[in-house]
Amino acid sequence: MTRPFRLALPSKGRMHGPALDLARDAGVEVDASGRALHTHCSRWDIEVLLARSDDIPAWTQDGAVEMAIAGRNQVVESGAEVEELAALGFGHCRLAVAVRDDGPVAEVADLAGRRVATSHPNTTRRYLAQLGVEAEITAIHGSVELAPRLDAADAIVDLVSTGDTLRANGLRPIATVVESEAVLLARPHLRDDHRATVDELATVIRSVVAARHRRYLMLNAPDDALETIIQLIPGMDSPTVLPLAMPGMHAVHAVVPADRVIDLLGPLRAAGARALLVLPIDNLIP
Ligand code: AMP
Repeated sequence: MTRPFRLALPSKGRMHGPALDLARDAGVEVDASGRALHTHCSRWDIEVLLARSDDIPAWTQDGAVEMAIAGRNQVVESGAEVEELAALGFGHCRLAVAVRDDGPVAEVADLAGRRVATSHPNTTRRYLAQLGVEAEITAIHGSVELAPRLDAADAIVDLVSTGDTLRANGLRPIATVVESEAVLLARPHLRDDHRATVDELATVIRSVVAARHRRYLMLNAPDDALETIIQLIPGMDSPTVLPLAMPGMHAVHAVVPADRVIDLLGPLRAAGARALLVLPIDNLIP
């Protein structure tokens, strides 16, 4: 019996909202309003499953789903053999080794013979083994940052985003184990027709992610300012320059990094640019 192509998205947690937004922007309608853990998306003829994100890498490896979104830290922790198709630009965090501000541990080597509490025991074990450090690893599931305070551990290995949680608990990071963000995954051994869907959906998702960091800039300029203006514009390719109906004027169009736009507007205006327009981009395929 053939079953539909399945895409798994996180059912809760920090990645749930951004993953659903990305799926929708890529044309995958997801009805997360009810309690249903799966919905059918007719545009792509796929079934969307909402699952715990720490289970998602194993579901993907075992072929329960063809494609999925999960945190890279969860992929590493699970040890699942899956294909990472793209980094998705949200859910950024790092898995870090942290110790008490006032404690005796200054570097990872000092953890030899000490106790390390973590919600990522497999990753921690592999990391310490690679460094030749033998420590006692305790797996705990929540509030890892409390362990040193309760004198249940000398160090922790935990996810850090802003660092506020560490600071509030008198801890400081001393090393990074994994740099993480949400990633797009594919199962191994895909059927040919499923491989085609994976490739198509991955192209659209990548185009949405790429477009989020870019803006479409349009401006008009007198011909004698064109050269300076073109020099000022950073971009993917050379800008498009089109003649206007008014003699002596051209329009310049370019795709520019979103975080450069504000700094560009003043210099462009000073160089002679007029009628500047900055527009969002939905999809971008380089
Ligand atoms: P922060 O105080 O911003 O450094 O966040 C740290 C807390 O949030 C820890 O309890 C982490 O386990 C959790 N955390 C941070 N980033 C993530 C993430 N991307 N996914 C899941 N949990 C996270």
